[in-house]
Amino acid sequence: MTTITRFAPSPTGTLHVGNIRTALHNWLLARKAGGRFMLRIDDTDAERSREEYVTGIRADLAWLGLDVDGEERQSARLAHYEAAFELLRANGRVYPCYETAQELDLKRKVQLGRGLPPIYDRAALSLTDADHAALAAQGIAPHWRFKLDHAEAIGWEDGVRGPQKFDPASLSDPVIRRADGSWLYMLPSAVDDIEMGVTDVLRGEDHVSNTAVQIQIFTALYAAQHKVQHLPRFAHEALLIGKEGKLSKRLGSLGCDSFKERGIEPEAIVALLARLGTSQPVEPIAERQTLVNSFDLGTFGRAPAKFDDADLDRVNTAIVHQLDFAAVAHRLPEGMGEEAWHAIRPNLETVRGAQEYWSIVTGPVELPEFPAEDRAYLAQAAAALDFTVDDPWHALTNALKDATGRKGKALFLPLRQALTGMDHGPDMGELLPIIGEEVARRRLVRAAQ
Ligand code: GLU
Repeated sequence: MTTITRFAPSPTGTLHVGNIRTALHNWLLARKAGGRFMLRIDDTDAERSREEYVTGIRADLAWLGLDVDGEERQSARLAHYEAAFELLRANGRVYPCYETAQELDLKRKVQLGRGLPPIYDRAALSLTDADHAALAAQGIAPHWRFKLDHAEAIGWEDGVRGPQKFDPASLSDPVIRRADGSWLYMLPSAVDDIEMGVTDVLRGEDHVSNTAVQIQIFTALYAAQHKVQHLPRFAHEALLIGKEGKLSKRLGSLGCDSFKERGIEPEAIVALLARLGTSQPVEPIAERQTLVNSFDLGTFGRAPAKFDDADLDRVNTAIVHQLDFAAVAHRLPEGMGEEAWHAIRPNLETVRGAQEYWSIVTGPVELPEFPAEDRAYLAQAAAALDFTVDDPWHALTNALKDATGRKGKALFLPLRQALTGMDHGPDMGELLPIIGEEVARRRLVRAAQ
């Protein structure tokens, strides 16, 4: 059976680093299995969902290089939820309830006060036909709950957490439909997972108890349709926390826009998030296939994964050093060619940083005041400059070493300063040919004055 995974964001905001991680892991899981990675837009909440967020989610996935093999939208599938709901109703698995939010809140408080778990007491199941009729006559529409089957324990082998067991009696019958007819998350997600043929549900561990409920919804739907049950495999990854060890507000809003602003490459986020929280080392792996091949849920730990910006910067720098000219050409300063990229690349933390070093080549460069002794040395250098040889920089420094007896810093630094206006920077052997003979000589002559 083809592996099918899905990433199911609600378009009520932009993707944050936790969502990105879940999307990436689903993508890696599908790609490794040669399967399909689906995007499912969970937009049943018409009030909070926004089209601009849908567009943003697609753009972020594209920027991250997480190509999708198909997209579904829950708002376009309402008839499917209606049909499933009717099936469950016909099978006695949904029931109408009338409690207000305040009443439910009060019930919970009373239960907690008595040291009981705050589980829905199923009071609505005791309503008589006359009660229902009276409520309907008052114009009070019900909301609907899915009736959990208390007879059997719910269990699954979780891809990250191992064997899981739930006593259904310890869970509230979930509300699946609001009084206005709109859908909550629980039923549409199960219906979609069945109809999209999802084989692997991989999501955050905040969904563990949802999985227990959804397994019963799956089972009820399969039974109602007299179909052989195909439950997906479930895996719940540990949450992502800040480096201080807490769920962090900042991580909840940290997304692709701020990564882009900081000059973070998509490959860096991908390399970091692919391995963070697993027993595999985080490495600056720019080659996507390497990450695909090494992806293994079995290496995922159960402890929260710690996200540290310093790790991201470190991985990013190492990734920038590997980027090919073709991959970055459109983001480089005008006129900067492949040789210059290769010369400058090892000095960069971000691609954007190329601008600063490229201005060394294009000039004008600001020269320091040189002491008289160095000025004489630089005049000698201007005269000795020879671009007819293969490697003008080494020819120059060798000639000057022989002629002046200078070595080390005294030999190199005044030259670098005169040629670039900086104390540090790209390898001069690579940079000098890019600066070119004429400009180099002019700078040396000027520095010598
Ligand atoms: N829309 C849900 C969420 O963002 C999807 C959860 C799931 O993967 O089923 O939490």
